[in-house]
Amino acid sequence: MRPLLPLLLSCTLLAAGPAGRPIRALIIDGQNNHAWQETTPVLKSILGASGRFTVDVATSPPHGADMSKFQPKFADYDVVVSNYNGDAWSTQAKVDFVSFVRNGGGYVSYHAADNAFPDWKEYQEMIGVGGWGERTTQKSGPAIRYRNGRIALDLTPARCGSHGSRLPFLITMRDLSSPIATGLPTVWMHAPDELYDTLCGPAQNVGVVATAHSDPANKGTGEDEPMLMTLRYGKGRIFHTTLGHDVAAMQCVGFIATLQRGVEWAATGLVTQSVPADFPGADKPSVRK
Ligand code: ZN
Repeated sequence: MRPLLPLLLSCTLLAAGPAGRPIRALIIDGQNNHAWQETTPVLKSILGASGRFTVDVATSPPHGADMSKFQPKFADYDVVVSNYNGDAWSTQAKVDFVSFVRNGGGYVSYHAADNAFPDWKEYQEMIGVGGWGERTTQKSGPAIRYRNGRIALDLTPARCGSHGSRLPFLITMRDLSSPIATGLPTVWMHAPDELYDTLCGPAQNVGVVATAHSDPANKGTGEDEPMLMTLRYGKGRIFHTTLGHDVAAMQCVGFIATLQRGVEWAATGLVTQSVPADFPGADKPSVRK
């Protein structure tokens, strides 16, 4: 019976990706104000567990080192997942990355990747909004709010990027037409995590897939802040998740499933994964240790 397992596995994979092959994903890390050495293996294992992806990792030189030889071969992949928040890339790496997405490559901005590259115009257009890095609404563009059932762009002068203490919070799915949202509960409880608020940027053509209410009692804004977003850049698709500060937050089944779905959507425009039976409801978080 031994030989059957690889056969079954390859059938699963063959059914998944573009042109009948696994989706090729590349995780970028190497510099971050977060523990990328701990979180990249979790990202890799989450994607691997879906049976949809092959996953490689490109690790940059450390902060302050020569970045000129960091030249990931983006074009060899269907989707790039960033766990990177650090030094500027070389001009060639930036040109290659923009060309990759513009020509239809998928990009996923995971948590602090939206803190990165505040001065890189094309990158900001891809992620739509970001935080920290001396971003302000005056300099970087409006903050996105979700008010009265629609996106509102808020130019009130503000520093961009903040969060309260890590607590569980409710996520509300807003764009039920997004393949990423299909079949998920409309409201679900996320495990303790940072709830990013007042993200700002070019904010063009942003689809807000999910929001969370930023509670003033936890240093929040009192606004519904975007948590999951989708964007287009050229022919490329971008999935932007603000969630997943640390390994504990990444054990949330809501994080796991929305990441798996978002990466598949960014790569192919489709989501073929079913909703896991342990997906959280509105009452309490559901985690996989
Ligand atoms: Zn964080």
